[in-house]
Amino acid sequence: MTEATIFDKIINREIPATIIYEDDYVLAFNDINPQAPIHFLVIPKVQIRTANDINNDNAELVGKLYVAAAKIADEMGFANNGFRCVMNCNPDGGQTVYHIHLHVLAGKPLGWPPYQETLKK
Ligand code: 5GP
Repeated sequence: MTEATIFDKIINREIPATIIYEDDYVLAFNDINPQAPIHFLVIPKVQIRTANDINNDNAELVGKLYVAAAKIADEMGFANNGFRCVMNCNPDGGQTVYHIHLHVLAGKPLGWPPYQETLKK
């Protein structure tokens, strides 16, 4: 059995979150610790633990994370300026919640590559 995460509690409305988008497959809500002026997470409503668990059976669902991100970017008006989608995987990737999620960061020009950003700190 897969272990529930804090994101299951957000999906089930057991803990609060600022939900900005929902459909039958995905949920998007603001990150509690934003790293950019706009920072929200898009998650599937069923748990996929890490990017290593993405396969042909769930590829369509994972694609819906990007579809939602693009739709929200358009609706929130930052699509043209641009944004970054990131999915961290396992400890070296910085993953802390084991229910895959697309970080969507926007609202200012973002540095690249992120590794150098970390070194500068
Ligand atoms: P990861 O480090 O796994 O890539 O990203 C997990 C993200 O979830 C972090 O950016 C963290 O701030 C966010 N997060 C963790 N717990 C909560 C929570 O209870 N509510 C919300 N809205 N975000 C959370």
